[in-house]
Amino acid sequence: MSEPSSPPNSLDTEGKILLVDDDSALLEAVTDLLEVNKFHVVTAIDGETALSIMRDYIPDLIISDITMPGMDGYQFFDAVRQNSAWIPIPFIFLTARGQQTDIRTGYSLGADDYLVKPFEPEDLIVKVQARLKRVRDIQAATQNEVERMKHQLIAIFSHELRTPLTCIYGYANLLHEDHTTMDDRTMSQMLDEVAEGAERLVRLVENLMLLVRIDSGVVGMEVARYGMEVDLSVGLKRVVESFKPVAAMHNVVLDLQIDGELIVKGMKNYLENVMKNLVDNGIKFCKGGGHVQVTLKEQKGQAVLVVSDDGIGIAQVDHERIFERFEQVDRQELEQQGVGLGLTLAKDLLEYHGGSIEVKSKLGEGSTFTARLPLA
Ligand code: ADP
Repeated sequence: MSEPSSPPNSLDTEGKILLVDDDSALLEAVTDLLEVNKFHVVTAIDGETALSIMRDYIPDLIISDITMPGMDGYQFFDAVRQNSAWIPIPFIFLTARGQQTDIRTGYSLGADDYLVKPFEPEDLIVKVQARLKRVRDIQAATQNEVERMKHQLIAIFSHELRTPLTCIYGYANLLHEDHTTMDDRTMSQMLDEVAEGAERLVRLVENLMLLVRIDSGVVGMEVARYGMEVDLSVGLKRVVESFKPVAAMHNVVLDLQIDGELIVKGMKNYLENVMKNLVDNGIKFCKGGGHVQVTLKEQKGQAVLVVSDDGIGIAQVDHERIFERFEQVDRQELEQQGVGLGLTLAKDLLEYHGGSIEVKSKLGEGSTFTARLPLA
């Protein structure tokens, strides 16, 4: 077995290869072949040794024999794939047994390729190069996508922070300078604008904090451990009332219809967050005015919250992706507010409470979001 020398600079090598075989003559020959082709090679005589090497040396590709004393090639492959950080490393089986069953077992385990001994040196090099190229192409594509998302998120967040702040700052200055000469109606309108801007910022921060709490498992734990009986009708009245001024500013008629008391088990603040995000969207997407109908009723042992609007609607093709994080439809064209978190949070929060959400919508005709929760 060769000790991993200090890891090579990626510019000096075509790639780092871990070669595992109990046949020392083969190890030597294949190492020579790979090194001539500018690969950095570390060798091991069995699976256990290879695993211990991988604690310090993460190869770009693994070539392994199947029949070895102790941990064989299949077991070694299994152990490698159990470590999530090692899953992307391409794995090529190398064996003297060219039987179809061996090849099938290797592929069925998920190995990337297979070489039967004796093999042509060029075949090995071509396979190694092809596998490494594929990994690098995928890494480059992923990196590009990450960069694209990063830029998109920075643009969305700066816009979502700057717009309400500019509005609050602008109106606060006007009120400060002109309040003595201003009539009550104008002053009240300006204060409404300031309040809307501030609420937008508060909702953004609340949603971001909620996302972190969901990811860290806190929300799931809280709902399971501290969930209490909550009357949805009380929270919904409060939420709808709080949106009345914003709805009026946007010429949206906001109506509420409640069957009566509906008790579910859960966390009041999280359930109200779901309501807020749905009502907020309903108003937001009634561009230039419209009607948002909020209904809470009992149906087959479930509390059913329906938020329906006659706004811009959503094309069928987007019905699934709008529940994904940071996904928004035609953000640029619609000059829309928000960062694309409301629905994903609503879905997660409802699911933590044993509930669900669905959308029915047609472009240009409006949308209906239906959330269901089991009654306590
Ligand atoms: P945000 O509202 O912050 O963009 P959401 O996760 O709440 O994020 O919604 C994601 C996207 O789904 C929105 O950007 C919008 O494109 C679409 N959407 C949500 N609700 C509605 C609605 N009531 N009418 C039309 N489109 C909607």
